[in-house]
Amino acid sequence: MRDNSFLESVGRYFDAAAPHTGLPEGLLSQIKICNSVYQIYFPVKINGEVQVIEAYRAQHSHHRSPTKGGIRYSNHVNQEEVVALATLMSYKCAIVDVPFGGAKGGVRINPWEYSESDLEKITRRYTTELIRRKFIGPAIDVPAPDYGTGPREMAWIYDTYRSFHPDDINAAGCVTGKPVSQNGVRGRTEATGRGVFYGIREACNQADLMDRLGLKTGIEGKTMVVQGLGNVGSHTATISQDEGGVTIIGVSEVEGAIYNPEGFDIHDVIRHRAEHGSILSYPGAKAFGKEERRAVMEFECDILVPAALENQIDEDNAANVKAKMVAEAANGPVTASGAAILAERGVIVLPDIYLNAGGVTVSYFEWLKNLSHMRFGRLQKRFDEQNYRRIVEQIESTTGKEISERDRQMIIHGADEIDLVRSGLEETMISGFQGIYDLYKEKEGIKDLRTAAFALAISKISNDYISLGIWP
Ligand code: NAD
Repeated sequence: MRDNSFLESVGRYFDAAAPHTGLPEGLLSQIKICNSVYQIYFPVKINGEVQVIEAYRAQHSHHRSPTKGGIRYSNHVNQEEVVALATLMSYKCAIVDVPFGGAKGGVRINPWEYSESDLEKITRRYTTELIRRKFIGPAIDVPAPDYGTGPREMAWIYDTYRSFHPDDINAAGCVTGKPVSQNGVRGRTEATGRGVFYGIREACNQADLMDRLGLKTGIEGKTMVVQGLGNVGSHTATISQDEGGVTIIGVSEVEGAIYNPEGFDIHDVIRHRAEHGSILSYPGAKAFGKEERRAVMEFECDILVPAALENQIDEDNAANVKAKMVAEAANGPVTASGAAILAERGVIVLPDIYLNAGGVTVSYFEWLKNLSHMRFGRLQKRFDEQNYRRIVEQIESTTGKEISERDRQMIIHGADEIDLVRSGLEETMISGFQGIYDLYKEKEGIKDLRTAAFALAISKISNDYISLGIWP
C-alpha cells in the first residue's frame, strides 16, 4: 500500500498497535484524534511589502496539561504535517513519562530566505496570534524548537509572551529550548541528539537483538551514517563518536552526501562545512551531488540515522537500505510502507516516538526549572562536595593511602545542572527503551518496536481517561 501522507503513516502505526491494547473502540478513537487545530494567516511587512504568512498550532491531546511540542519553520508545513507531528508528541510524552499532552506548531516559510529581523517579526506576530487564542502559556501549551527554529526564536517567543503577561511570574515556562541566559536549561540544545545516542546504545546493549542482526553487542566500533547535520544530526553524530566509540562513515546535507568506509572525524566534517559552505569538498570521501543525496539511505553501515525530514525511506528505496538498524532521529523519516519492507528484511527500526524524545524530556526539565525559579543543583552541590570530601579524608586516614588529585576531584564533584540534566535524560531513555522492549518480547503478535511503542503509549494515555472519566 502507498502512503499518501505522513499523517496516514501515523494512523497506520496507531491502527497496528491498537488491537494489542484491548481497549474499546470509542476510547481508541478519542486517543487517536487530534483535539484542536488553529490555522492562522497573518500579515508581515517584508522589505516594505505585505506578505501573508500561513501558520498552525495543533493540540493533539488534552489528557494532560499543558500540551507540548516544537515549532517548525519550513515551506513544506501544512495542516496534515502539523497534526501528524502533534500526534507523535502525545505518544512520545507518554512513553518517556513526561506529563504533557502533544502539540506542534508550524509556520510555512523557508527560514533561510529571511533576514534575522524579518524572522523576528514573523515569530513575534505568530506568538501574538497564539496568545490571542490562548494557544500558548505555561499551563496551556508550551512550544519548543523544531526543524528551522532554535534558541533564538524561543527567546523571541518568551519575550513576546512576557510583554503581554507582565503579571505572570511563571511566564518563562511558556516556551522551552530558550538560551541558558534567558531561563533555558543547560543541555537542552544537545538533548535530542544525546537522547538518540542513549537510545541507540541501549539497543546495542541487547545481546539477543544484536545476535539477530549478526552484530557484536555494544555500541563501540559500530559504523554510522547520518542524514542532516542540524541540531539533532550533529549532536547524535558527535556524541556517538566521542562517547560511544562509533565510526561515522557517511553524512548528507542539502547540498549532497559523502561516504568513506574508513570513517572520518565528524567534528572535522562539521568544521569543513562551516568554512566552505558544503560537505562535498571534504577530502578523501566519495561525494554525491544534490540530485543524488538520497543515496545516503542506501550507504552500507550498521546504523543509519535519518535526522532531517519525514518520508525519507519509503516503498521506493526501503528494499535498498543496507543498514542493519535504522535509528529514527527525525520525526517520521520512514513511511508505514517503507517500515513494512524494512521489517520483512529484518532491519530493526528504533521508532521516532521513543528515540527522539530526549528533546521533550529536557524541555520538561526546563519547564520545571522555570516553575521553581532556580537552577538545578544550586541547593545541594556544595553540601554534597563537603560530604564527599569528608568521606575521601576518612578513607585516606583509615587506609593510610593517598588518593590521587585527579580521582579526588572526580569523587568530590557535586552535581551541576548539566550533570543532573544528562543523568535525568539517560535514565529516561534507558527506562523508555526497557518499557518498549519488554512489551515487544512479551506480547506475541507485536512484530516490531514501533508497534510496541505505540501500544505502550496508547495504554498509558488510556489510564488517564479511565481514571479521570469522560466528562460530562
Ligand atoms: P535543524 O533545522 O536544526 O536541522 C535539519 C538539518 O537537515 C539542516 O541542517 C538541513 O540543512 C538538513 N536537511 C534538510 N533537508 C535535507 C535533505 N534532503 N538531506 C539532508 N539534509 C537535509 O532541525 P532539527 O531540529 O535538527 O530537526 C531535525 C528532525 O528532528 C526533524 O524531523 C524534527 O522534527 C526532529 N526533532 C527535532 C527535535 C529538536 O529538539 N530539535 C526534537 C525531536 C525531533
